[in-house]
Formats: sequence, C-alpha cells, structure tokens
Amino acid sequence: MFTTPPRVIAFDGDDTLWRNEDLFTLSQARYRAILAAHVDLEVHDLDARLAAVERRNLATYGYGVKGFTLSMIETAIDITQGAIPAGDIAVILRLGQSMLIHPTEVLDGVREVLATLKARDHELWLITKGDLFDQESKIARSGLEPFFERIEIVSEKDQATYRRILRRAGVDAAEFAMVGNTVRSDILPVLALGARAFHVPYHTTWAHEAADAPEGHAGFVVLEGIGDLPEALGVG
Ligand SMILES: [Mg+2]
Repeated sequence: MFTTPPRVIAFDGDDTLWRNEDLFTLSQARYRAILAAHVDLEVHDLDARLAAVERRNLATYGYGVKGFTLSMIETAIDITQGAIPAGDIAVILRLGQSMLIHPTEVLDGVREVLATLKARDHELWLITKGDLFDQESKIARSGLEPFFERIEIVSEKDQATYRRILRRAGVDAAEFAMVGNTVRSDILPVLALGARAFHVPYHTTWAHEAADAPEGHAGFVVLEGIGDLPEALGVG
C-alpha cells in the first residue's frame, strides 16, 4: 500500500522520547504511604478511587501533573471524610511540584534515531498531549527541541486533532507517520486518517489510555524499541 517512506515523521513525547509514567507510578506509591496513616484501604481500592477521580476530572483539568495533583488531594479529602491534615495536603502538593521540575530523562536510543532520520531528510515533528506549560518545560529540559521542525502541544490526540495539524501543515496522510507508545492516542486515530503508525510499547501504560492494538492494518508496525525505527521505515 505504501511504496515510499513517509516524508514527515511525528513523535509522541511522554514514554516515547522521554520517561514519564514511571514518575506517576513513583508518586502514587508515595501518595499511598501518606494515606496509609489515615485510612485502612487496600492498595487496589485506593488506586481505583484515585483513578475514578482522575477520569472524572479530565474534562475539567485536561491531562497532566497539575490535574493529577488536584485529583490526589480531592481523593485524600474524600476517603478521609475531610480528616486529612493540612500538613499532609502540603506533602501531596510538594509531590506534584517535584514531578513538574523533575529532570526529563530521554529514553535510550532516541537521540541517535532522531539524528539518523534527520540526516535522511525526513521532516520531524513532535506531537505531545498535556498541560502546555509542563510540556514546554519538559521539551526544553529534554534538549531534543532542535530536531523538530514542528512542535504541537495538544489537549487531546484524536482524529480531529491530527487532521487539523496535517491540514494546517499542508501534509497528506499518505506522507505522514506517527511514532508513539499509546495505541489509543498515537496509533488508532492516525491509521483512521490513512497515515502510518509505529507502535513502540512502553512497559507501563496509564489505565485510561489502554486499548487493543489493531490487527492486520497495512500502515501499522509494532517495534520492539525505537532503535528499530530507521530500518522499519524500510523503503529508501
Ligand atoms: Mg506517550
């Protein structure tokens, strides 16, 4: 179906170019420890309560650390029926703040792959979802900014978003490929537009983003690691 390599290759940021979900996992473990002093809840139940509050708040806060922090506080107030002391709320706030200034850890092989593709004259884009200020700051801290000709920070990665970005840039779906770790937001909407999508699974995926990978789709490739991308682009 595709006979030439994609001219434009867009990358997801979180857990594709740099580590992200691990930081949430770590913070959530600390959060459990704070709450354990106040309530006797199974880890699973506490996580489920927090996930439900996060999901409900997405429409209000959007994706990102700030929304996550507010959801941690809301859940803490709910499950302690208002008994959580201000001192512990302050600890939760600091947890969120430390996530926002945490160094951006670029994943293995990323820099080399971007350099290789740029040298082959692909146009590289970054399309990342979440809080504008946090994402801008993460991109700056990653040092990867010079590789990209276009950086889009969006609030949702659905078909309409990708269509809008491509139209504005004057790029056909047939000459576009997306590379990312999340089937729901990096793969499915891109394939639906008739573009190509390369899935680089990460060892953890946020429950909200979990989705089944499509099967037998012409433009869909699963990679073991991002280092396999230059070869997988194949033609040329
Ligand atoms: Mg991601």
